[in-house]
Amino acid sequence: MESFKALQLHKSDSGPDVRWVDLTKDDLMEGDVVVRVSHSTINYKDGLAITGKAPVVRKWPMIPGIDFCGTVVESGSPEYAEGDEVILNGWGVGETHFGGYAQYARVSSDWLVPKPSGFSAAQTMAIGTAGYTAMLCVLALEKNAVSPADGPVLVTGASGGVGSVAVSLLAKLGYQVIASTGRQEEAPFLKSLGAAEIVDRAEFSGSPKPLSKERWAGAIDVAGSGTLANIISQLQYGGTVAACGLAQGMDLPTSVAPFILRGVTLAGVDSVMVPRERRIVAWNRLETDLDRDKLAELTQTFPLSEVVELAPKILAGQVRGRVVLEID
Ligand code: NDP
Repeated sequence: MESFKALQLHKSDSGPDVRWVDLTKDDLMEGDVVVRVSHSTINYKDGLAITGKAPVVRKWPMIPGIDFCGTVVESGSPEYAEGDEVILNGWGVGETHFGGYAQYARVSSDWLVPKPSGFSAAQTMAIGTAGYTAMLCVLALEKNAVSPADGPVLVTGASGGVGSVAVSLLAKLGYQVIASTGRQEEAPFLKSLGAAEIVDRAEFSGSPKPLSKERWAGAIDVAGSGTLANIISQLQYGGTVAACGLAQGMDLPTSVAPFILRGVTLAGVDSVMVPRERRIVAWNRLETDLDRDKLAELTQTFPLSEVVELAPKILAGQVRGRVVLEID
């Protein structure tokens, strides 16, 4: 039987033991569809998995990679036929089920979404979980009636994956986007994506007051911790923050004051277990609302072989925008 290459993480006492291995399809996990993977990507969570900085991997050994795009080569599902192009984001893939850092993946057909025809395979991975989460955050702001006329919208971690796609999407939709970053050298990049103004993320690192000056009609936050607490205290009356990340930390040192005195909303955003129908809504909106030139501008492409070196860099905030990994 034909063998193929995969990156595999093996459990060890000093963090994951990272190995390139040759596997056959018989080595893959259960599922009714086999996909020949063409592209994947690296998200913050993949960085955590490869470095072992957080317990993302919960079954060993594991092929990491929470996203992939590719072509169906075997299907036991009436939904998919050989030759169909599909994408996968989340569902525990790369955590408890073999993921995208391999030439083949076998998964449940329920986890797949047909590749949107308006994107190439590489573009879907330029978006990846980070970009699709940015869209889920935009949908959360819209659901809570944050409109461009209401005032500025803040995006934290703006030079990172979720942040850079969020800046591009919000700017295209007509919002006045204020980009928060720790990398002032990325200001020209963020302006080119559509940010109206750049603020230093240090502005959000102080001890949060129960209520601060009202600044934001809405916000998309990837940092959590004190940053999110400061944003909540700065939301305008009736404002909403879509919270999806923990790049600063898991804690949230806030108070009820902004909720009961300003009626603000903290909208939690998860991308991993979102039902399929909502994923399709998000991908359809990405097709219409994401500027392809800006997507190209925020994307870098590497061969899969470089993913191990990229992992600590993404955790250190040294990766700009999004990364496409070419599997072959
Ligand atoms: P990236 O590493 O690409 O971007 C994170 C950015 O956060 C960095 O580039 C940096 O941006 C900023 N940052 C880093 N450290 C800090 C800090 N201490 N305080 C404030 N900002 C900081 O990661 P992603 O964009 O892929 O993911 C961002 C977060 O969102 C992660 O925590 C990730 O786990 C989470 N996430 C959650 C999802 C969900 O389903 N809920 C899905 C996808 C991601 P800058 O240099 O511009 O300040």
